[in-house]
Amino acid sequence: MKDIVKKSLGEIKKDLAERKVSSVEVTEAVLESIKEHEDYGAYVTVCAEAAMEAARAADKAIAEGKDAPLLGVPVAVKDNICTEGVRTTCASKFLENYIPPYDAFVVKKLKAAGAVIVGKANMDEFAMGSTSEFSAYKVVKNAVDPTRVPGGSSGGSAVAVASYQAYASLGSDTGGSIRQPAAFNGVVGLKPTYSAVSRNGLVAFASSLDQIGPLARNVADCRTVYYVIKGHDAGDSTSYAGDLDKGDDFTSLKGRKIGVAKEFFPTALNATIRAALEKAIKFYEDNGAEIVETSIGSFDMALACYYILSSAEATSNLSRYDGIKYGRRAEGCKTLDEIYYKSRTEFFGAEVKRRIMLGNFVLSSGYYDAFYLRASKARTLIKKDFDNALSGCDALICPTAPTTAYKLGSNAGDTTAAYLGDVFTVPVNIAGLPALSVNCGYDGDGMPIGMQLIGKPYCEKTLLSLAEIFEKGGRE
Ligand code: GLN
Repeated sequence: MKDIVKKSLGEIKKDLAERKVSSVEVTEAVLESIKEHEDYGAYVTVCAEAAMEAARAADKAIAEGKDAPLLGVPVAVKDNICTEGVRTTCASKFLENYIPPYDAFVVKKLKAAGAVIVGKANMDEFAMGSTSEFSAYKVVKNAVDPTRVPGGSSGGSAVAVASYQAYASLGSDTGGSIRQPAAFNGVVGLKPTYSAVSRNGLVAFASSLDQIGPLARNVADCRTVYYVIKGHDAGDSTSYAGDLDKGDDFTSLKGRKIGVAKEFFPTALNATIRAALEKAIKFYEDNGAEIVETSIGSFDMALACYYILSSAEATSNLSRYDGIKYGRRAEGCKTLDEIYYKSRTEFFGAEVKRRIMLGNFVLSSGYYDAFYLRASKARTLIKKDFDNALSGCDALICPTAPTTAYKLGSNAGDTTAAYLGDVFTVPVNIAGLPALSVNCGYDGDGMPIGMQLIGKPYCEKTLLSLAEIFEKGGRE
């Protein structure tokens, strides 16, 4: 049984199609693995019964000769993505008992592709954080070293995949929440181009930045899941109806150009991470790609810009949690004001409150121009710089994060330290571009180092090809 869970998604899919193993057996093995790894806190909710039912249906379909990209394969879904009849908490006390009446677009897609959803992955409350320590339920532990953070906010999604509690998972990425936990656990994570994957049914954090994407143990598996979930959806007004496959599939690096922007390699960059990235760059060069130097002049503005824009949007999005419409209501309230005040005080965690306060501040009269408006202008500049840099190459390469996974609790009380960790990932969301994180080595403690590839809009294929070539030949 143990070996089953360690197979890749591609391998298990093949075994299922060839009827070497049944989906019921595979799902049972994964559910057993989830139990064994309970300590890791990867799941908020495990849906064993629904999963077994889906597995039986998959086995029946396979017996009838049917096929679908994920038929019978157990996967995990981040707990801010709505699942009909299955509690969707966003790891918040506010939504502790919230059971959505509908499936998110991506969940419908997963189900249509035959996937078996085994559970809802743990995360930072409302996806705000970089360590998953802000879950209102339990801390998530790193899959490589459980004394360390798994990254966040999709920490559960990354750990579930890395510790064999699912073959792949969905996460969401507003400022790095797929890529950074992928890097911290040594798996692959793809943040698609803004609008390539529908946000319909994703509980909103910052609507102009949020994107759903896959995490998996290898590039091919990540590609499979991405192909299942992408696509136009009339239910998301920002969903792109044009060509989503502007990139291409390739296995040779000849004629490919990879851009290195100097701002992504500051002098203060951790030496081990720099060395791992330099090695990866050399691999690409040695194998036929041209390395071009480039620049993102507005890089320095991105972090501040992100925390202003994302908090402003969060403030607005989270105003719906008022103790009335849905979610929980504080007890013993006598007036409307009291319902708002007590419910929001009691059921939001500290980080969420911090973002709401920051968002209200940057939007308040007298400060709006100085913060929100300026950040919006900076956004235009950042986007332009990326467009310029990417006009001369196929992709940009840089670290996913400035550190590897650190000890649990080490950021306690230091919000800024955690925010600084997002420095390489947030510019990508601001520019709305696709980016992927793939492992490119380990530090002295054996912790994985992530390399980030940033692409042109709707060129996910290019990123996946570049990452796959590296995965096959560039790692020791
Ligand atoms: N760490 C970032 C934040 O806390 C990104 C979160 C995300 O991508 N959801 O806002």
